[in-house]
Amino acid sequence: MNREVRVRFAPSPTGALHIGGVRTALYNYLFARKTGGKFLLRIEDTDQTRFVPGAEEYIQEALNWLGIDPDESPWNPGAVGPYRQSERKPMYMQYAMDLVEKGHAYYAFDTAEELEAMRQRLTAARVVSPQYNSITRTQMKNSLTLPEDEVKARLESGEPYVIRIKIPRKEEVRLNDLIRGWVMVHSSTLDDKVLMKSDGMPTYHLANIVDDHLMGITHVIRGEEWLPSAPLHVLLYRYFGWEDTMPEFAHLPLLLKPDGNGKLSKRDADKHGFPVFPMDWKDPNSGETAMGFREQGYLPDAFLNFLAFLGWNPGDHRELFTMEELIEAFSIERIGKSGTKFDINKAKWYNEQYLRAKPDEDLAKYLVEDLQAEGLVVDESKAAQIAHIMKERATFPADLWKEGKFMFVAPNTFDESVVSKRWNNDAVAVLTSYEEKLSAFADSLSPESAKSLLEEAASDNGIKLGKVMQAVRLAVTGVGAGPDLMAVFSIIGKDELISRIRFALNNLEVNTP
Ligand code: GLU
Repeated sequence: MNREVRVRFAPSPTGALHIGGVRTALYNYLFARKTGGKFLLRIEDTDQTRFVPGAEEYIQEALNWLGIDPDESPWNPGAVGPYRQSERKPMYMQYAMDLVEKGHAYYAFDTAEELEAMRQRLTAARVVSPQYNSITRTQMKNSLTLPEDEVKARLESGEPYVIRIKIPRKEEVRLNDLIRGWVMVHSSTLDDKVLMKSDGMPTYHLANIVDDHLMGITHVIRGEEWLPSAPLHVLLYRYFGWEDTMPEFAHLPLLLKPDGNGKLSKRDADKHGFPVFPMDWKDPNSGETAMGFREQGYLPDAFLNFLAFLGWNPGDHRELFTMEELIEAFSIERIGKSGTKFDINKAKWYNEQYLRAKPDEDLAKYLVEDLQAEGLVVDESKAAQIAHIMKERATFPADLWKEGKFMFVAPNTFDESVVSKRWNNDAVAVLTSYEEKLSAFADSLSPESAKSLLEEAASDNGIKLGKVMQAVRLAVTGVGAGPDLMAVFSIIGKDELISRIRFALNNLEVNTP
């Protein structure tokens, strides 16, 4: 029987959600929507020592910003809650005990000092990675080595203990990963991981498997860093007797540094000045802040589109996808095996595409807001005209104001390099006649009339317009490059244009070499 697809995103609230985590959430979401299944969010907060206040709220807000909406979550619970592991604490012990009873797990009483002594002994004997495993456990204090009555007495006296899985000594563990194919691991390389900690909390491994089972998870889609844990998880499913409903696994390729050497980290972000978190994050412990895509001016739909392509592609040349289109096109088969290099320029490219596709009226709102912050007032329709000519040159909404400031504020400085190259007698002659023509022009200025008056001014002086065009731009905007100049003239209007030309003519000096 085909079960309804149920997938989950299971972050630990240990800090800001890294971009890799957001991608994991997105792929789970797309897969659920594509298959008509359910997308769950479970907070894995069993490690109380790593709990960071605000991290859970951050996860919620980031997913909300991107429209990755869980069908079931701590904030919108379904039938299989609670959705925070700390609130599920009382249910785990019985499962650990079940494994102890079946002989697949055991009590261990070793103190921190004894464990350290074992590590040192093994290191001295040149064991590369000292582990508590099928060999070393025979020399430790646990219910496999101690007499039964002593174990009982220790448990009854309240002595602290952990429960470890008993990994078989010689067994091949196989799993068929949907992305990587068959993965085979020999059990001799696995250690007897702790399942239940001495504080009565389950470890990640136990809680994760028990919860995936109880929550009816059919596919585990998660980062490649969890692949080494997968054989242990397969053994747990087997020992619990849940193999027939074991989820399928899909381990997503790593996100790599821009040069492809190693995993993308926050340090790369600091070094290159780009974000690796969806939103700004202030670490409550260190007080350190990390920048987010949202605050840097990335639009949610552009960021989402960028994220989807970090490891997946539709198999053709299309690059621009709405969420609906992603759902339609998504498949696990098209997720790559190898790591994906992180390229911030691609993120910017997506942002530019989405920005340009937005209606001018929407962009005008950003501009009006930024202007208000500067104490400037502009009406929406003028702001929309400005947004229209500026958007081709903008990567972020804030660029509309930054790059378009000259539309509102006349320049009082002029780019020296353009002045020295372009400000000459021809430019002065053309601009002088242009100013006269504009003053005599009765109508309001359209881009066409602005242009034909300028062409007349050039031909009256017997000068080719192309030769002085950059100087004309300089006089009005202060710089040598920018958006369509005639559109600029028409938007700032005749009076402002005349006053700027006069100011330039009065203040700029022709260099006579
Ligand atoms: N809590 C784990 C994490 O933070 C979940 C790993 C998994 O999906 O199994 O990534």
